[in-house]
Amino acid sequence: MTDFTMTTDADGVAIITWDTQGKSMNVLNLDALEELDACIDSALADDAVKGIVITSGKEGSFAGGMDLNIISRMKDMAGDNPAMGLFEGIMHMHEVLRKIERAGMDPKTNKGGKPIACAMPGTGLGIGLEIPLSCHRIFVADNPKAKIGLPEIMVGIFPGAGGTTRLTRKMGAMAASPFLLEGKLSDPKKAKAAGIVDEVVPADGLLSAAKDWVLNAKDADIVKPWDQKGYKMPGGAPYHPAGFMTFVGASAMVHGKTKGVYPAAKALLSAVYEGALVPFDTALKIEARWFTNVLMNPSSSAMIRSLFVNKEALEKGANRPDVADETVKKVGVLGAGMMGAGIAYVSANAGIEVVLIDARQEAADKGKSYSEAILDKGISRKKVTPDKKEQVLARITATTDYAALAGCDLIVEAVFEDPAVKADVTAKAEAVVGDDAIFATNTSTLPITDLAHASKRPEQFIGIHFFSPVDKMMLVEIIKGKQTGSRAVAKALDYVRQIRKTPIVVNDARFFYANRCIIPYINEGIRMVKEGVAPALIENAAKLVGMPLGPLQLVDETSIDLGVKIAKATKAAMGDAYPDEAVDEVLFWMADEGRLGRKSNSGFYAYDDKGKRQGLWHGLGERYAVADDQPDLTTVQHRLLFAQVLEAVRALEEGVLEDIREGDVGAILGWGFAPWSGGPFSWLDMLGTPYAAERCDQLTEEFGARFTCPDLLREMATKTQSFYGRFGPEAKTAA
Ligand code: NAD
Repeated sequence: MTDFTMTTDADGVAIITWDTQGKSMNVLNLDALEELDACIDSALADDAVKGIVITSGKEGSFAGGMDLNIISRMKDMAGDNPAMGLFEGIMHMHEVLRKIERAGMDPKTNKGGKPIACAMPGTGLGIGLEIPLSCHRIFVADNPKAKIGLPEIMVGIFPGAGGTTRLTRKMGAMAASPFLLEGKLSDPKKAKAAGIVDEVVPADGLLSAAKDWVLNAKDADIVKPWDQKGYKMPGGAPYHPAGFMTFVGASAMVHGKTKGVYPAAKALLSAVYEGALVPFDTALKIEARWFTNVLMNPSSSAMIRSLFVNKEALEKGANRPDVADETVKKVGVLGAGMMGAGIAYVSANAGIEVVLIDARQEAADKGKSYSEAILDKGISRKKVTPDKKEQVLARITATTDYAALAGCDLIVEAVFEDPAVKADVTAKAEAVVGDDAIFATNTSTLPITDLAHASKRPEQFIGIHFFSPVDKMMLVEIIKGKQTGSRAVAKALDYVRQIRKTPIVVNDARFFYANRCIIPYINEGIRMVKEGVAPALIENAAKLVGMPLGPLQLVDETSIDLGVKIAKATKAAMGDAYPDEAVDEVLFWMADEGRLGRKSNSGFYAYDDKGKRQGLWHGLGERYAVADDQPDLTTVQHRLLFAQVLEAVRALEEGVLEDIREGDVGAILGWGFAPWSGGPFSWLDMLGTPYAAERCDQLTEEFGARFTCPDLLREMATKTQSFYGRFGPEAKTAA
């Protein structure tokens, strides 16, 4: 494999070209790092070489970053003493980049080095910017679509190949903080204005500009400010009054945003603060120690695994049946209410022709106007052009006439949650569309297998379950009924790929997967209110363990009457086995009081006239007194998390879930399950199945049978198995 190649031209400039084999964008792996190192060594040792330009063989981009597959497995590959192995590996990366930076110059006089420029045809992310930052001058092609930045924090790590230390020293801690702490990306011109890159030049003059600079650079041009005597950090070092304020604010902001559960942001801040107090090479060492610390934390590899590696695998069709392409050309959306309107928008926005049907023309038109409103908002934010708006709207036909569905290869039904209404529209649509069209329902509670009875072609009937709001929520749950065939699954997956969302494929069971897990979370929160646990403790415990919303806020958002409706239907279906009487008492009382959640401006929380949440509602405490003795934080958190993850395990045990990757990715994207954990199965693996089973037993004894350890978890605990060890993709391939 040769990702880096080098040629020396007649002027004595060595051109090192990065071109990752078999990828459309460069990504760095460990072998490629060695190749880059070898190129630098030979260019520095060759007297015929006057200077070096590092560039990319890919049009429009320099590099997308480090190969995330490698980062997620780095700890496992680091040997018996992984912390030491990781630290040494990171220090080696620093050595290679520092060698570029020092370029053979005399350590005392700073003289005699070879100028090294980076010529970036466009996008440079992560290590794709850290390598340029180690060069003496960064040239970027004037490509407005290019993205420049250090987005590592979004993946649960931080820039650990010198990016943290170099950017801070180049810009100052305050100026660097949005790029480091928020992973802010810029186009080349903005990156230059911010001082991240040095020159933006026309694409066709990129290489010659870099070469010219290299040939004309003087000794002083290639010494980095931090390698010169008297260097002072821009904006002041941490103990300087201005610098001090930066860190006070940043620490508070990081803690406020991460609630202490994401290790990377805090480690990054420590690396910046401690690094700013010492000479550059020591700062790199500190950065390496903190980076090791983050990689040693199971959260970083679990997040990368779920949010990048596995999410991408699912989007690329990891579980797609082997049938021919089923790209959707024309979709019929039945019901132009909240969900139908959103489904029409995301489809038309993806270039698919849409027929949007409702019982009344005004309702259909209203559904279409939802797209218009989103597009207008996009125009006001300069994200959408008026032309684009016209194109998207022109793709949507809003009508009451089922005949317009002729030619649709997919129907997505989103009418009222009523089997009779659904059966009626299914028959009407099937009478018009071709024999090979696939019919999907967006039901959230009705079994797909039952609804398929209304279809003439149950093997072509499937569930495509969107989450609200459709344009924002990235997960789509695809549900196979008993008779659903592979072509319907392929069609649903191809459609989800077209609208650029992430699919999971599950089997038909009450509440499918996501709602099945989230309902017990809400219920556990409400149950604690009844028991006298302080509502603020319940809500804060949830947030401090990484849930985006506490259970009481969540039920306010989704509405308390919907909770009542679901509770009644579940009770009717389960009879004596129904476990949630205590929950219903609180829920039904709230509904009787007319406190229906955000939509009525009153719920577990109080709201002002404008609908702004004011804090927990005091009336709650009058009805359900807060007990003198309060449980500890971890007990509350375990109740809230176990309520969800045990449901996920049961879904796996019952075959509703067929792939734990879908269970983890679906949980984070579907209902925001503590993203730092990588999802329910990753979290159980972090706890270790023996401890998880033991904790189930304790919770069962103290709080009831709903925490009973599932047989599968018990068996795995006995064998000390992990979920990824037993059910992960590697285990599946090996089996
Ligand atoms: P909604 O009440 O906002 O919209 C339903 C629309 O269907 C209305 O515009 C109504 O006029 C139309 N309709 C009713 N009968 C019809 C008929 N015979 N022919 C044509 N149109 C008809 O409801 P919604 O929230 O958009 O939910 C729609 C479906 O999506 C339901 O099955 C619901 O369970 C499911 N769902 C809802 C959510 C959510 O958060 N609201 C999430 C996932 C799934």
